Parts: sequence; C-alpha cells; structure tokens
Amino acid sequence: MRFSLALLFAMALCPAFAQTPDWSKLDAEIMRHFQALVQIDSTDPPGNETKVVDYVRKVLEAEGIAVTIAAKDPARANLIARLKGNGSKRPLLIMGHSDTVRVDASKWTFPPFSATRQGGYVYGRGTLDDKSDLVADMMTMVLLHRLHVPLDRDVIFVSEAGEEAATAPGIEYLVNERWSDIDAEICLAETGSVRRRNGKSFYATIQTTEKQPKPARLVVKGPAGHGSRPLRANAVVHLSRAVEKIAMWDPPMRFNDTTRSYFEKLANLSSPEDAARYKGLFDTQKAPAIREYFAENEPGLSSLLHTSISPNMIQAGYQVNVIPSQAEATLDIRALPGEDMTAFYELMRKEINDPAVEIVPDTRNRRPSAAPSPSDSSAFHALEAAYQKIYGVTTLPIMSTGATDMAFLRAKGVQCYGVGAMVDDEDAAKGFGAHSDQERILEESVYKHVQFYWQAVTSIAGH
Ligand SMILES: [Zn+2]
Repeated sequence: MRFSLALLFAMALCPAFAQTPDWSKLDAEIMRHFQALVQIDSTDPPGNETKVVDYVRKVLEAEGIAVTIAAKDPARANLIARLKGNGSKRPLLIMGHSDTVRVDASKWTFPPFSATRQGGYVYGRGTLDDKSDLVADMMTMVLLHRLHVPLDRDVIFVSEAGEEAATAPGIEYLVNERWSDIDAEICLAETGSVRRRNGKSFYATIQTTEKQPKPARLVVKGPAGHGSRPLRANAVVHLSRAVEKIAMWDPPMRFNDTTRSYFEKLANLSSPEDAARYKGLFDTQKAPAIREYFAENEPGLSSLLHTSISPNMIQAGYQVNVIPSQAEATLDIRALPGEDMTAFYELMRKEINDPAVEIVPDTRNRRPSAAPSPSDSSAFHALEAAYQKIYGVTTLPIMSTGATDMAFLRAKGVQCYGVGAMVDDEDAAKGFGAHSDQERILEESVYKHVQFYWQAVTSIAGH
C-alpha cells in the first residue's frame, strides 16, 4: 500500500515521464504510415488530396479520434481533427500539406511514388515536402490520444490541400470559411529544418516570418519605326538599361528581429572567415562590400537583407525590321515584412532615372501581409528546447524569401512557426531536395521528426 501510494505520487509529479512513448516500438508503425502516404499520388495539379485524407481518416478513426472533412472541392479535401484540452490556453494548430509538386518520372532512379527504402533513405515525391510533416502531425495526434495526455489547450491537426499550386481549396478556404474549426493561438507548419553537414547535425531553423511577393512591370512606350533607321528612343533600349540598373541595384538594407538574430547566431556557428562577413553586415563601413559579395556568391543570404528585385520576363517586338512601340519587363519583387512599397517604387524610379520607364505594380493581392511571429515567445523557446533535446543543436530563427501559407494565418493573428525534419546540406546539390528531379529523406529523419513533434506539442500544449 505504501509502495503504490509512493508510486502514484511519483507519477503525479512526473506525468511527462509516465507518458513518454516507447519510440523503439513505434518506428515500424511510423515508417508504414509514412510509406503509405508517399505512395499516394497527390501531385498538384490536380491534387486529389482526398485520397490522402481517406488514409489519414482511417488511421485516426481506428484510434477513436473524430475527424472533420472540410472540402471546398470534393476531390481536394482538407481534414481537421481536434483533441480537447482543459481550455486554460487557446488552441495549438499543427498543419502539414497533403499535395506535392509535379514529377518527371523519367528522372527518377526509383519510381516517384514507390517510397523505396534504400541505403538509409526513403525515396519519393513528398518525402521532404511535406509528407514528413504530415506523418509527424498524424502520429502526434495518435500518441496524444493513445497515452491519454492531459492538455491545457486543444491540439488541432490539419491535413491541408493545395499548398503547392492552388490556395483556394486549401488555406484560403480554411481561413475564410472554416475559421472557427482551426482558430488557434499558435501554429506549427513547414519550412524549418535541422541542417546536417558531413553527417553531423549542425543547427536547426524555425521560420518566423517571410517576404511578401509584390510583382510589378517596367513598361516603356516609344516611337515605332523602320529597323533600318535605329532610334535612340527605342523602347527596347530604354527597357534594357532600366532592367540592368534595377537588377544591379543594392536596395536599402534593413534587419528585423529574425534576420538580425539569424546572422548573429550563424556567425557563432561558422568559420572565422564567414563569421567576419556575417558580423560585418552590422558595420556600416564594411557592409556595402559584404552585400556585393553576397549578391555575387550567396543569393539566398543577399535576399534576406532587403526587398529584392529579379527581372524574370521580357516582352518586346514582333518582327526583325520593326522598332516596337512598347517593351516591358516583369519583375519578381519580394518585399521585406512591413516595407512601404510606395516609398520603394520612388527609390526604384530614382535608380532607373528615366522618365520613359513606368513602374506598374501588380495590385492583385497574392498573400496578406503580416507581422513576424515573435522569436522570444514561450512557444519559440519550447521549439528550441525540443530541437536541442532531440538533435542536440541550437536554433536559428529564419525569414523565408519565398511565400508560405503561414502568411494567411499570421494575418489572422496566429503565431506561426515553420519547423521541419533533418536534411543533409549536401543533398539538395546532389539533386535530391524538395521540388528537385528526385526527392529523398533519411529514414532516421522520419523517426526523429515524430519525436521532435511529440516533444514540441506536449511542451506547448501539455498540462
Ligand atoms: Zn511544402
């Protein structure tokens, strides 16, 4: 009697200990689900995410977890499942997308939907992006329910459709028409990762903000004429000059909390040479030369420093002997969070310095603007601690240069954090990255990502 009371007392003090899953017994189950998810062809377009939803629904319902199917298009369903907490905190949303980008099957050593296991990897479209998150989310729900984990907040799981090519049936439908089903204080979704180099975990990243797509066109009108009599006023000539100027321009550098912390922490992990560059960005004397170096050698880092401009399409002319009266270039402009675009266009005009060139913004609203999620919140610290516990690495907050569906949730006031599985830094260059001709993930990474999710979710939502 005394013994059992003491044991009960100890269990009450250490609920986390009592509830830790036996991971060694779960690997086979995790891998079986992961392979099954990869083997479902959910290439977007057309998506057919309902096939993924059918699988996830069966798994969750077999555990006794109720699911809601939320579909704007019956073939492109989202799935929502909720585990109830005691309501003392607002919900946590965990989200993975069920669609994948297209494939050219002729480029694949193993068929893209085979989920072949070979040499410590699993091969298949979606292994990195994003079925590794999907299986981690699903297994976390299964384990929370199986182990009766008491929760301070509801945990909501969403299998999201249409992330890669069409937000209408996915995040836009969920945010605009199913908001009460997914409304949460905190969200975990894709885009972070654990970076491994030479087989060793190096650091982890959590996405807290992203740049916003703000495309625009440069339009030049000029006199038409006979090609045998060249004109200085030729629209093509004016446009070419403007395109070169704007592409070589170094727009004003601006840090936010995320990028400042990113470069500071990256410096601590880097070689003396690299570290000097990262630190030099904060030195007004040294920064211009470093920005030039990054523009030439590190385009991904360069884009973090300012609103960026890439001229990606040019249209002019229709016949060799005709001077065209109009020429235009389409610019992919990626704005820093909070950028004042009116002021930015003014700077562009000054840089181009040619009254013949007009800047025409594309006013279609692609992604809502939103403030960055804080990198000093308790949720961020819980994620940092989870990465440390599972991988033994420090965490860097990151800003995506590309756009993600988290923009829609952040715009609704949700704190969103992009997390992800472990990848070898060398692997993308070998052609096995997300969206590459082939895609693969380390088997170990699949298991560890479930453990990471478990650790993060129990820490953020557990009682
Ligand atoms: Zn993705």
